[in-house]
Amino acid sequence: MAVEAERYCPVCGKPATDPTYKRFGELCCSEAHAGEYVKEVRAQKVQAQAAQGRQEAPRGGRFGQRRGGC
Ligand SMILES: [Zn+2]
Repeated sequence: MAVEAERYCPVCGKPATDPTYKRFGELCCSEAHAGEYVKEVRAQKVQAQAAQGRQEAPRGGRFGQRRGGC
C-alpha cells in the first residue's frame, strides 16, 4: 500500500490534500492556515529558545521588564 496517509490541517483539522500548502511536513487546507501554522511553529521555537536562554542566564530577564509591570 503506497497510498499516502490521510492528512489533516493542523490549524482547523479539516482534511488537507494540496501539497502547495505543506509546511514543516504538515499539510494545511489553505494559504491562510499554512501561514498560521508557520507562525505557530516559529512562536514555539522562539519560546523554546527563550526557555533555554533563561536556564543559561537566570538573572537579567526581570530588569528589562520592570517598567512594563503594573
Ligand atoms: Zn485549515
